[in-house]
Amino acid sequence: MERFSDDSRCIAWMPVSESSTAETPYNSSNTLHFVTTVTECAIPYYRTHSNFGSLGRRKVRQVQRDLSYRWPNNMVPYFVGNVTSNIKKSVRMAIEELHAWTCIRFQNVNERYSNGDSVRIVDLGSCSSPIGRQQIGKQDVSLTKNCWGMGTAIHELMHAIGIEHTQSRSDRNRYLDILAQNIDQRDLPNFELLSPRLWANLVPYDYGSVMHYSADSFSNKDDEQTMLPKDRTFIETMGSMIPNFYDFDQINQYYNCYDSCRNSGEQVANCANGGIPNPNNCQICNCPMGYGGDLCDQRPEGCGSTLVATDRWQKQKMTVRFSKNDDQYFTFCNSWVVGPAGQTIQVIYEITSESTRRQICSFGCYEGGIEVKHLEDPRITNDRDCCLNTPLNVTTTVNPLPVIIYTSGATVTYDFSYRYL
Ligand SMILES: [Zn+2]
Repeated sequence: MERFSDDSRCIAWMPVSESSTAETPYNSSNTLHFVTTVTECAIPYYRTHSNFGSLGRRKVRQVQRDLSYRWPNNMVPYFVGNVTSNIKKSVRMAIEELHAWTCIRFQNVNERYSNGDSVRIVDLGSCSSPIGRQQIGKQDVSLTKNCWGMGTAIHELMHAIGIEHTQSRSDRNRYLDILAQNIDQRDLPNFELLSPRLWANLVPYDYGSVMHYSADSFSNKDDEQTMLPKDRTFIETMGSMIPNFYDFDQINQYYNCYDSCRNSGEQVANCANGGIPNPNNCQICNCPMGYGGDLCDQRPEGCGSTLVATDRWQKQKMTVRFSKNDDQYFTFCNSWVVGPAGQTIQVIYEITSESTRRQICSFGCYEGGIEVKHLEDPRITNDRDCCLNTPLNVTTTVNPLPVIIYTSGATVTYDFSYRYL
């Protein structure tokens, strides 16, 4: 069975007020309402990008128990065919990320490479990849102008390494409601559950995985959702273009990358806040988003600030501006709200500009958003927000409390209030 679909129309989601007479097909617990407008966007979203699920009699799974789909010695020979400079840059950035976080190595080879299997980066008019090494010689990873920069590039390269979609996991129904009435018959195979006998879930279910589709993927009506998170606060989180900690962790487990530190016989880094020693250098840590430094005990470098909470409300503006060095990806700013040890922190935040809010509001928050890491597991993606119809109010014992804001273009300012209780 071959799975393939392609829809590169650009859909922008615009929230409307409750009193609007426009069609309001969706009403979440957040009282978000959406209508669609088809627009000519500069960066269209890979709304229902395509995939080859399997070839021949091979079955697909998120991480294959059949290890023949892995690349031998963690090496992926690849070469880049005739693609645009933007696609080349997004592939280069994706490979740099994978090299920094995992023991996978993409090895640039000549297109006449014949020593074994290889990946060809090519523009077939879709964003697509087979899952894992196919043992057919050259296999294609296709990227085209409608794919979303580095986010789609790393998604497809992760398919090539052997990772399936998060929403296909065998435990998916504990996390999502599938709205089959909004999905065409021919697209339903994309929502099939994969057999736990054939594939393994190595990490917790993460709505913010770069391998998770957005709420409106494969919708047969432009204004309807096809999958809703059981916890509706994650509706904008799904469809992320940001590879998350667990995405890399899954690769490292699948390819036994952690063995190098485990078997080194040397002292390895003692990582804080959920970090794990980096398989390429056991003295430093892979850190979950919002945490930095060699041991994940620092606020990440770059823009952002440390906000010292008192027992009275303090309010300030938080702004992220896009840096053109981050073309094909996002610029991130990391702040920490710090209260006295053991104190509970409360924050309230909203976007100051209504027009900016409308501009970045989307499923997947692929134009920008905010993530307050208030959940207990420091590794998992928290409910990411980019629509913020009403101010959000979060109370948490996570202290220091990381606050991540990011953008792929627009300058976005938040009104941010904080205190400890
Ligand atoms: Zn995919």
